[in-house]
Amino acid sequence: MLDVTLWKRAEDALRVSEERFAFVRKTSGVGFWYCDLPFDVLEWDEQVKAHFHLPPDAVVSIDTFYDRLHPDDREPTRRAIERSIAEKAPYDVDYRTVDTATGAEKWVRAVGRTSYAADGTPIRFDGVTFDITERKRAADELREQDRRKDEFLATLAHELRNPLAPVRTGLQILKMTPPGRSAEKAHDMMDRQLGHMVRLIDDLLDVSRISRGKVDLRRERVDLRTVVENAVETSHPVVEAGRHDLAVNLPDEPVWLDADLTRLAQVVSNVITNAAKYTPEGGRIHLAARRDGDEAVVTVTDTGVGIPAKMLAGVFEMFSQVNKTLDRAQGGLGIGLALVRRLAEMHGGSITAESAGTGRGSTFTVRLPIAVAQELHPPPGRNGAAHATPASFRVLVVDDNKDGAESLAMLLKLSGHDARVAHDG
Ligand code: ADP
Repeated sequence: MLDVTLWKRAEDALRVSEERFAFVRKTSGVGFWYCDLPFDVLEWDEQVKAHFHLPPDAVVSIDTFYDRLHPDDREPTRRAIERSIAEKAPYDVDYRTVDTATGAEKWVRAVGRTSYAADGTPIRFDGVTFDITERKRAADELREQDRRKDEFLATLAHELRNPLAPVRTGLQILKMTPPGRSAEKAHDMMDRQLGHMVRLIDDLLDVSRISRGKVDLRRERVDLRTVVENAVETSHPVVEAGRHDLAVNLPDEPVWLDADLTRLAQVVSNVITNAAKYTPEGGRIHLAARRDGDEAVVTVTDTGVGIPAKMLAGVFEMFSQVNKTLDRAQGGLGIGLALVRRLAEMHGGSITAESAGTGRGSTFTVRLPIAVAQELHPPPGRNGAAHATPASFRVLVVDDNKDGAESLAMLLKLSGHDARVAHDG
């Protein structure tokens, strides 16, 4: 008789350890490889074989390894292995493996080390592999986004700098000329350039507010016709500047929306402004607003430069511009339509673009859900009649920007009000 208690315990411990190891293998996706040196017998588990696009029963040799490495990664990997064996350095490399049949690629990270006999002869080279394809893809995408952001910053700096030169020149003209025709022209020009700059900055602020979820819609009952009328008025200067013919069709009946009037007007005016910007002088722009079942639909069609089919979906992406070489005074920052789409979506609506191609005009369609119970509840009228404006107010202007506060007070005084200034609370 023999007491096998210890033996049995050891067997149990070994079984538990093996089960745990099998579990780790299965759940981690890590592959294990073992090689004797100098690389006669290679042992790869199923996972390593999968990382090299091989079936579980494939027989492998060191040639299989190099054959399936991407040609550009063979030499660096060979050098890393040699260095690890010769210098006792850790082995840690990223390489691409290629399926020789289909050309499919994977990014794999291999980590290993060399073992040595007592006399220092290298005898084994073992390690693990992980699939890092997804991580590489994410890194590439981040790099691309970073590049786009850099490009955007460059464009932004340029766009913000541009209006400043004429404004500064205008100021000099005003200093040098008495009031009269030239001074007036300088005024108008400065006004235009400043307006352009303010629009850019407003868009920028909107983009950052929207992407941080900081925009709240001030919803009220508004008539689609009011939205369109406001938008047409806002975009009037750009339409006028392009000498375009803008035709507007409105429904005869009110179409009630539960919407933020300012934001929706911004959506429509942005689309009209684009139609004017991307249409050569003297073009035709047609805006139609109507009710279609449960939806309010606004379409804006122009006879402009059009959009190539492959760019159609992309125009709503942030920072996207079809024609980067377009005169910058015309093009903006490529954020207008991204904003428009987000605002339309916040209203539960959508925007789409169509174009028959370059030079053949474009149509943008905005769809919005109409307010439920259209007919039952006429909207509450705006409270009371407009107050008679008193001739003069007493106004306190508080702003820590001294120039801002003082110039506003000056304007108020010139307009006949009594204004005081404070620079802090
Ligand atoms: P941008 O500031 O460049 O106008 P938007 O986001 O408003 O940015 O528009 C993105 C791009 O979509 C524009 O740069 C332009 O190439 C294209 N686009 C927009 N509207 C039109 C249109 N009506 N006709 C042709 N191209 C347009």
